[in-house]
Amino acid sequence: MRSLLFLSLVSASFALQLPFKVPFFQSTVPPEDDEPVRGTPKIAIIGAGAAGSSAAFWISKAQERFGVDVEVDVYEKTSRIGGRSLTVYPHGNDTFEPVELGASIFVKANKNLWRAAQEFNLTLRDLSKEDNDLGIWDGEQLLLNGIIDKLVADMLKQYSTLYTADSPKWDNITDLAHSFGWKNLIESTGAEFFTSNGVSKQYVFELIEAASRVNYGQNIDSIHALEAACSIAANGASQIEGGNWQIFERFLNHSRANVFTDTKVTRITQKESKSRPWVVHSDKGPTGYKAVILAALFHQTDIELPSALASQIPEQPYVHLHVTLLTTTSPNLNREYLALSPNEKVPSMLLTTYDGVRQGRKAPEFNSISYHGKINEDEWVVKIFSESPVEDKWLQSLFNDQVGWVHRAEFDAYPKLPPTSSFPPVKLDHGLFYVNAFEPFISTMETETLASRNVVDLLLNEEFSSSICGPRISGSTKDAAAPDSDFVFGWDC
Ligand SMILES: Cc1cc2nc3c(=O)[nH]c(=O)nc-3n(C[C@H](O)[C@H](O)[C@H](O)COP(=O)(O)OP(=O)(O)OC[C@H]3O[C@@H](n4cnc5c(N)ncnc54)[C@H](O)[C@@H]3O)c2cc1C
Repeated sequence: MRSLLFLSLVSASFALQLPFKVPFFQSTVPPEDDEPVRGTPKIAIIGAGAAGSSAAFWISKAQERFGVDVEVDVYEKTSRIGGRSLTVYPHGNDTFEPVELGASIFVKANKNLWRAAQEFNLTLRDLSKEDNDLGIWDGEQLLLNGIIDKLVADMLKQYSTLYTADSPKWDNITDLAHSFGWKNLIESTGAEFFTSNGVSKQYVFELIEAASRVNYGQNIDSIHALEAACSIAANGASQIEGGNWQIFERFLNHSRANVFTDTKVTRITQKESKSRPWVVHSDKGPTGYKAVILAALFHQTDIELPSALASQIPEQPYVHLHVTLLTTTSPNLNREYLALSPNEKVPSMLLTTYDGVRQGRKAPEFNSISYHGKINEDEWVVKIFSESPVEDKWLQSLFNDQVGWVHRAEFDAYPKLPPTSSFPPVKLDHGLFYVNAFEPFISTMETETLASRNVVDLLLNEEFSSSICGPRISGSTKDAAAPDSDFVFGWDC
């Protein structure tokens, strides 16, 4: 159980951004009127995080297997690959191990990332083996905890069919949810779902809420039950040594796509053209494409779309998260702050519940605090997630006046995920696809690779009468591999 909750907590990391330079990345985009090489159709991917890099990878699988003739350009506004997956060095010193600042962990059930780690020879670090003492804080006192059940196992069993040869494809996420029998999960809050299924209120409002707050910055009575279930389904949490972003860099390397870093897309327009109906305008000029894959949260891109297309994507509030990484020579948190007696153990991982507030007490000042191991004999790295910035003075008091280096970052980390019966469209128009429509459903690195696989299948089917695994579209004739087998759809076909 504990390992579940370690989840993003354990995985968060820090310090300076990793310097990023890969020789095959380019900084000039081809002009709009350039004739494509050999008349090859072109696809643009906007964003080089989990979604965009994996989209390029999936396209390259179809190229390798079936000779699908297509050239791919990836646009990335920053100078690095990985998006919300990024690392920093404690003290800004690259002799220390880099720490994850954003997306930190994934699990074995995340078969695309797991497989990528193996195929690309990246080293997995098993965080569940790291011993952390868990505490749950309601703002004023430490609470006890409970036990988890079959509900999550049922959800995971259904989820794992996405890796079989019979995986559905979808252009409507609500239909996908219904086909999985998840209507109730998306339309109820975590609190409604778990309590109506017999889970005790104490368990729900203490333990499951602690997980939904650390993983999604949202309380159990406001987040939909599917995402709440995901946040407690993190057995065997792992991360890539040196940074998860390396998977996404490898995806791009493998794909041989043209990658334009430091290139912000500002506008997408349409024109009368059979071969290049979409024009991607970046800060380096316009280029025409057969199809475009938008692989970033639309409202965070500042991209101007024709209004008939933009209006299809509903307004999207985000969780604005403050991530504070620090080093401290204090081996534990201040006992007085936690009102602990001298012989009580001080948790090294502190999750929070909002239940104290519901009972008229004060709110926790943070969502989670976790010790992440030592960088020196007597210096620990700690990660704090909070809704508001945490002040130096508060940090000093919490860590017994022994705070060293501090690194602060802010993210519009994930969509707010209230219960819903509708999601943004996956396909905005013929040749224009939106991977991150999936995020208000489930927001993780892995599910972005699943969403991109689906989008690439739709696109290849529409434009090239093909798909990642062949002329057929996913999920028809091939024998379905059992959900628990090593077969991974898209990798093994
Ligand atoms: C603090 C934090 C902790 C998290 N913890 C976890 C975790 O433990 N496990 C997990 O699986 N997930 C976690 N997540 C969620 C995870 O980061 C996301 O679900 C996933 O990384 C999203 O990938 P993406 O490629 O869809 O989007 P992003 O990673 O956001 O990538 C989008 C890319 O598009 C680029 N872009 C945006 N606009 C433009 C433009 N106009 N032109 C060109 N490029 C553009 C961006 O620079 C970015 O690189 C966490 C997120 C945060 C913030």
